[in-house]
Amino acid sequence: MIVILLGPPGAGKGTQAAAISKSLNVPHVSTGDIFRANLEYQTALGLEAKKYMDQGQLVPDDLVVRLVADRLAKPDALEGALLDGFPRTIVQAQALSDILAAKGKKVDVCLLLEVPDEDLIARLSGRRVCRGCGAGYHALFSPPKVENVCDKCGGEVYQREDDSAQTIKSRLAVYHKQTKPLVEWYQSRGLLKVINGRSDPKTVEAEIAKALA
Ligand code: ADP
Ligand code: ADP
Ligand code: ZN
Repeated sequence: MIVILLGPPGAGKGTQAAAISKSLNVPHVSTGDIFRANLEYQTALGLEAKKYMDQGQLVPDDLVVRLVADRLAKPDALEGALLDGFPRTIVQAQALSDILAAKGKKVDVCLLLEVPDEDLIARLSGRRVCRGCGAGYHALFSPPKVENVCDKCGGEVYQREDDSAQTIKSRLAVYHKQTKPLVEWYQSRGLLKVINGRSDPKTVEAEIAKALA
């Protein structure tokens, strides 16, 4: 099963991904996580992506598409994948549909997490992430028990460089201009399910489970 998690930065895609990926038994594929892992190891891909990420801009389509094509060719993605943060442009959506068609597959459902911009700014500016396991926290809404230490793995909890006020602004603008058209794209193909991402995480999780049932 191929499931897309669509929504603006801070909508809660990463927060919801673990439960969905577990319940569907498909890998969680986050392009943002892949870029950050590459940056950690200073690979050419990571350094190239950083130029765009730091500005709150999208990494060029051809680079992202190649990356996702490679990822979907891995054995663990044979039965499907949960795509988080991809596609983000119409070009990427078309490329995804071509990649899948070549395997005799297609997108099964696109879950749109809807959250208004005011909430997104508060969420992103307080977001904290574990460097070890990727677990997400929020400085005010859901801090780790011990400051800067991950509850799950003991790793360092840090603030992403692109979660600064200025970059958040550009990322929201980029979402509205380049990614929002995907809502219409998937809706017109009968694949869109809208989820109220404003509720608390447990309620969102239940609504997603219902949409996938
Ligand atoms: P995305 O992956 O869509 O960019 P995240 O899952 O990283 O978003 O969530 C962004 C921030 O908002 C995190 O700090 C997270 O703890 C917090 N958050 C996630 N879901 C909710 C929710 N339903 N209500 C309030 N805060 C949330
Ligand atoms: P968020 O969900 O908070 O926006 P992500 O971790 O998904 O953050 O993405 C971080 C950054 O990585 C984006 O701002 C962008 O620069 C880059 N990126 C991630 N996915 C894509 C994609 N599908 N296309 C282009 N750039 C991407
Ligand atoms: Zn951790």
